[in-house]
Amino acid sequence: MRAAVLVRTHQFDIRQVPVPTILKDSDVLIRIRTVGVCGSDIHYYTSGRIGSQIVQYPFIIGHEAAGIVERTGSAVTRVQAGQRIAIDPAVSCGHCDQCLSGRENTCRELLFMGCPKQLDGCLCEYVVLNEKCCFPISDIMTFDQATLSEPLSIGVYAVERSAPSTRANVAILGAGPIGCSVFHVLRATGIGDVYVTDKIDGRLSALAPLHPRWTGNPDRTNVPRDITACEPLLMDIVYECSGDLKAVNQALELLKPGGSLVLLGIPESDEIVLPIHELRRKEVTILNIRRQVHCTQKAIDLLARHEVNMDAMVTHHFPLEETQKAFDLVASYGDGVMKAMITVD
Ligand SMILES: [Zn+2]
Ligand SMILES: [Zn+2]
Repeated sequence: MRAAVLVRTHQFDIRQVPVPTILKDSDVLIRIRTVGVCGSDIHYYTSGRIGSQIVQYPFIIGHEAAGIVERTGSAVTRVQAGQRIAIDPAVSCGHCDQCLSGRENTCRELLFMGCPKQLDGCLCEYVVLNEKCCFPISDIMTFDQATLSEPLSIGVYAVERSAPSTRANVAILGAGPIGCSVFHVLRATGIGDVYVTDKIDGRLSALAPLHPRWTGNPDRTNVPRDITACEPLLMDIVYECSGDLKAVNQALELLKPGGSLVLLGIPESDEIVLPIHELRRKEVTILNIRRQVHCTQKAIDLLARHEVNMDAMVTHHFPLEETQKAFDLVASYGDGVMKAMITVD
C-alpha cells in the first residue's frame, strides 16, 4: 500500500509498505479515505517531537481519520465489511486502574495512532485497529465530517469537564480547529457570552456565524483591558487553545476569582512559568485536557443531528501524494488554512 512516511523533519516520502494484518479476533482492517492534519502532527513534522514523545524515523503519523471497513477479525461485532466509519485513534488496554475507572484517555498502556513507539499513523491506505475504535456513520455524513468528529470530540470533552453554567462568561484563546471545536460545542450547549482571541484575523472573522460577543487579535489589542471593558467581573472559564505561553498568563488575568483555566493547547516548550500568587488568591482551578474520553459518539451525534456544522472549517484538500504540501501549508498558516484534509483514493 502507499503511505506518506515521515523520514526526517519537514520531509515525507511516498513509499510502498506492507498492508497491516489482522492479528487479533477483535481487529478491524480499515481502508482510510480521509485524514485531517492536526496541530500535534505539525509538531512531529517540524520538530520531530512533542515533549518526551520523539519520532524514530521512518514513521507514519496522522490520527484524525475516517474510512471504510475492509475486513474484520472473527470476534468483531461492532462493524462489518463495507461499513463507513469514523475512527477514534486511541486504543486503551481495558484492564488497568485508569481504564477501570473510566479514564481510558490516561490508560497506563495507551496506544495512540500516529504517536511515536505506539501505533503507526493513518497517512496511508490501510490501518488495523481494535473494533472499539470504529464508529459507524450514516450514509449522508461525509468522510470529512466523520474526520472532524475527532477534534470535535476534544471540544465536547473540554466543555463537559469544565461544566459551564448557561450564564457563564467564557473566553477562548486561539481559534484554530480545537478552539473552534470548543466554541461550536458551547454554542450547541447554549452558553452565554463567548470572547475569542487569535493572531490571525481571518480566523476571527470566520467565527461570525457563531456570534462571539467580542473577538480580538492579541498582537494589536490589549486583550485583558478590552475584555474587562465588556465584562468587568471577568471570565468564569478560559479555554487556552493556542499553546502560546503568553496566552496562558493572559488567561489568568482574564479569570474571575474561582474561575477555571482549561488547558488544551500544546506548548512548544517543556515548562511554563505561572504567577502562583495570582493563582492562589483567585483560587483558580486548572484543568488539563488529555485528548478525550467517551466523547467520540457524542461528537458524531452533534454533527449528524446538525447541532454542530464545522464544514466551513475544512479549507483545503490534498491527495496523499501531496501530504508534504499540506503540512507545509498548515505549518506556515498560509492561504487562510484552517483544517487541511488529505484524501486517500
Ligand atoms: Zn488531532
Ligand atoms: Zn488501560
